Amino acid sequence: MEPIARAKTLEVSLLAITPDAQKVIEYAGRTCWQSFERIGADSSDTFIKRLIEMGHETPLEHACATFEIKNCSRAMTHQIVRHRLMSVCQQSQRYVEEDELDYVMPPAVSENDRQEFQNDMQAIAVMYAKWRQRGLKKEDARFVLPNACTSNIVVTANFREWRHIFSVRLEKAAQWEIRAACQVMLDILRKHSAACFWDI
Ligand SMILES: Cc1cc2nc3c(=O)[nH]c(=O)nc-3n(C[C@H](O)[C@H](O)[C@H](O)COP(=O)(O)OP(=O)(O)OC[C@H]3O[C@@H](n4cnc5c(N)ncnc54)[C@H](O)[C@@H]3O)c2cc1C
Repeated sequence: MEPIARAKTLEVSLLAITPDAQKVIEYAGRTCWQSFERIGADSSDTFIKRLIEMGHETPLEHACATFEIKNCSRAMTHQIVRHRLMSVCQQSQRYVEEDELDYVMPPAVSENDRQEFQNDMQAIAVMYAKWRQRGLKKEDARFVLPNACTSNIVVTANFREWRHIFSVRLEKAAQWEIRAACQVMLDILRKHSAACFWDI
């Protein structure tokens, strides 16, 4: 059967987040001053904003969020895994067959050129299948695969690290795909813990 190459769309979802994250951060932060008597129903918002303004961000390390990013390119995952204070599990090209070559098409590819891009991906899918049939292991056949190849990745970081990641990866200078993923993650985290991400 002819191998298939298919264009895919980025998907980002929240898998887990520290329950009552802002309350945990406030409690941790107030431990420094032993000012627990100031804890109230809404006190975490102003307290956390103040911590951020002071540059006292260590309390934000007490809350974590885990995201699954699906159908992103290997070009993108190569960038996100550079963040060393993040825990990562990524789909392996050594163990998972790429017989159906899912790929990301950059939006910069014009409407006129999309078919040609698809044809190139299809040609690579055929190449990969050829080397597998010749007996190369997946870990070696993958050497012909493109950066466009999709990957699935689960990433966990604490809120301080997420703030750092967003600050560098939402900049105009950052690559479009990692910016798109980070924007979705930031929007989700803002819904859960607005005060922790108010200034980004
Ligand atoms: C627009 C853009 C372009 C890029 N281009 C390139 C490129 O061309 N080539 C390339 O190789 N990389 C490139 N990078 C990746 C970049 O160099 C970093 O590796 C990546 O952004 C991870 O950031 P970080 O090291 O600040 O943060 P993380 O690894 O997330 O760490 C968070 C923070 O912890 C501290 N920290 C972590 N580890 C150490 C340590 N060992 N010592 C001291 N402090 C530490 C630092 O304060 C750091 O900012 C680029 C990044 C961006 C945003």
